[in-house]
Amino acid sequence: LDLLKQEVQGAWRNWDAMTGAYGRAGMLSELRAWSELATRKVQPCCIVLMDLDEFKAINDAHGHPVGDEVLAGAVRCLTQGLRPFDDVFRYGGDEFLIALPGTDLAIGQTVIKRVRERLAGRPFAVGAGGVALQVTASFGLALLDPQVSVEDCIERADQALLLAKTAGRNRAISWDPNVTTGARLPRLQIEDAKV
Ligand code: GH3
Ligand code: MG
Repeated sequence: LDLLKQEVQGAWRNWDAMTGAYGRAGMLSELRAWSELATRKVQPCCIVLMDLDEFKAINDAHGHPVGDEVLAGAVRCLTQGLRPFDDVFRYGGDEFLIALPGTDLAIGQTVIKRVRERLAGRPFAVGAGGVALQVTASFGLALLDPQVSVEDCIERADQALLLAKTAGRNRAISWDPNVTTGARLPRLQIEDAKV
């Protein structure tokens, strides 16, 4: 019973109650485990950074509580389009890290196209009046490369996300070693969150 209690408490702490995504605690160690499997050529793992587009404008126009509803709805829509063994972590604010085990970049693009279009095509009824709000997201994809640290792989996804934002948003771009932005999105430090 004690063991079960510990597991439940651990799971509870690592849960972002608002969106249903995992918190960042444990994210890096999980990604390192997937990277380890890639090292042994067992299976690739695609990681994706997703950031909602112009989300601040929704908060400004409709208030934070409505923004919260949109955030939660977007993650619900995302997870409905993923497989049960794909994981979604709240990376910070309106940004999420998606791990797609057993998925290379080409399949990752197919998966993300599906969820991106699904999100863009489904307005949410939010607030007391049930106002229909549309939200889109941009995505940056990279592979977990066993030759490179997990943190650097996340940085690659970040660079691709920045390109997706600057190219006009509501799109997904895969990291390409020949294309660099020379800039970074403002973000939290890449560290396991303290709970
Ligand atoms: P961009 O397309 O460039 O991403 O534009 P953006 O407006 O989405 O800009 P950015 O991603 O930098 O800003 C995210 C905003 O999300 C800023 C912050 O006020 C808001 N935000 C972060 N966390 C929460 C939250 O938990 N609830 C709500 N309602 N808003 C949040
Ligand atoms: Mg955003």
